[in-house]
Amino acid sequence: MRIITHLCPACGTVVAANELENNRVMKCPGLGCQEVLRFEDLPEDAREHFLKNRNRYQT
Ligand SMILES: [Zn+2]
Repeated sequence: MRIITHLCPACGTVVAANELENNRVMKCPGLGCQEVLRFEDLPEDAREHFLKNRNRYQT
């Protein structure tokens, strides 16, 4: 299974796509980082892949 993650551009913290999808807009979980991350920040192909297979990404 393809792992889809997003890298915070400010601090490099890795965020799982399913967290982004659950929240749509979330503050970066990185310590002291104020960056706001969005599901839409993921590349289009990654978003499509995730949405097509989202049932497999539930934990
Ligand atoms: Zn960050």
